[in-house]
Amino acid sequence: MARSLGLSDELSAYVQQVGTRLVPAQEALRAATQGMRDAGMQIGADQGQFMGFLVRALGVKRALEVGTFTGYSALSVALALPPDGTLVCCDISAEYPAVGQPFWQQAGVAAKIDLRIGPALATLGGLLADGDSFDFAFIDADKSNYDAYYESCLTLVRPGGVIAVDNVLWSGAVIDPTKTSEDTEALRALNRKLHADERVDIAMLAIGDGLTLLRRRG
Ligand code: CA
Repeated sequence: MARSLGLSDELSAYVQQVGTRLVPAQEALRAATQGMRDAGMQIGADQGQFMGFLVRALGVKRALEVGTFTGYSALSVALALPPDGTLVCCDISAEYPAVGQPFWQQAGVAAKIDLRIGPALATLGGLLADGDSFDFAFIDADKSNYDAYYESCLTLVRPGGVIAVDNVLWSGAVIDPTKTSEDTEALRALNRKLHADERVDIAMLAIGDGLTLLRRRG
């Protein structure tokens, strides 16, 4: 979502104004996505800025994304990768990532992005079978499979690698007992599991719709 939960429009605008630096391709991709069906699935500009910052700070060379939508997070991560860096993107649909591809080209990062269309669990299974390894993973796809994506990513990221899980606050539904959809229950269960998971360090951020950062321990 474009605005962090509970943040006023005015303060959100201020954060975007003085806290983000978008290249023209990022501006253009945001504009191209705005007004589309499901446009709210695009991460905020501040979250994209944060993810790019994280990728640079961690020195990420190999990144993984589960759920690409129109490719704004992919663009933000790819811009932060070194020239020989790679981002493997998984999406079930070819239609949405196709919106982003011209902007990946415009930004000069298309060669860093390896887009895999198909069920993400199958793609992740292939990466696991290949013994592939990543420094960073971003999970932002169908919520009912989040736990399975997390388990795959936890094996795929190296020790010390970071996993970011999106939408963990689910517009606040996680604390509303009247909300019992499959997606809400899946996120609640995963949040509880991650809190207790000794395999990772955790920091849940109230940016966007909630973003949990996990660092794989040894
Ligand atoms: Ca999301």
